Amino acid sequence: MSIAASPPLPRMPAYEVDAQGWVPGARRLPSPNFEARPQGAVPTLIVIHNISLPPNVFGGPEIADLFLNRLDCDAHPYFDAHLRGVRVSAHFVIHRDGALEQFVSCDERAWHAGASSFFGRERCNDFAVGIELEGSDTTAFEAAQYATLAALVKALVARYPIEALAGHSDIAPGRKTDPGPHFDWARLQRDTRLGAASFPYIQGCDAQGATS
Ligand SMILES: [Zn+2]
Repeated sequence: MSIAASPPLPRMPAYEVDAQGWVPGARRLPSPNFEARPQGAVPTLIVIHNISLPPNVFGGPEIADLFLNRLDCDAHPYFDAHLRGVRVSAHFVIHRDGALEQFVSCDERAWHAGASSFFGRERCNDFAVGIELEGSDTTAFEAAQYATLAALVKALVARYPIEALAGHSDIAPGRKTDPGPHFDWARLQRDTRLGAASFPYIQGCDAQGATS
């Protein structure tokens, strides 16, 4: 191996969404925290989040435990203060190593966005797919996470009439800060080759970058 070789690119997985809204390439951990989307509602928005439990601690089972209603809230003061009795979910979690988990079918309404508004259209959970990146507002995300995210977004765009991607902080400003300042929107745009119109909250998002 040449010492001048570039570092290997992260594995770029290929995903698809099946007829029931599940991604066969994801580890499936069905959460009870979902409900039917309103009549006629289809996913048109992808919401990007970050989560770590406890905050800034990575690698444990706590995110899945939370979404499966089995988190031990006596195990950490943060859980006790903030998560006791909370019923939440996201469609997907992308771990630090790029591993993908799915908790709710994309055809169903997961509980990730809370009170939210996408350019005046409220209740974003009705029409959104929620993707949680294991991370925090103070830590860079891993290359493997961007690779999985781009592949997942491509699969969602191929399956649903996705019109836009947004951060949780974009649709719940003042209440939420995730995915935070370390999330590289330009990188996601480049990796997905989606046009600037798909990133309505990103200032100066370069549409030409999608093809260069
Ligand atoms: Zn969030």
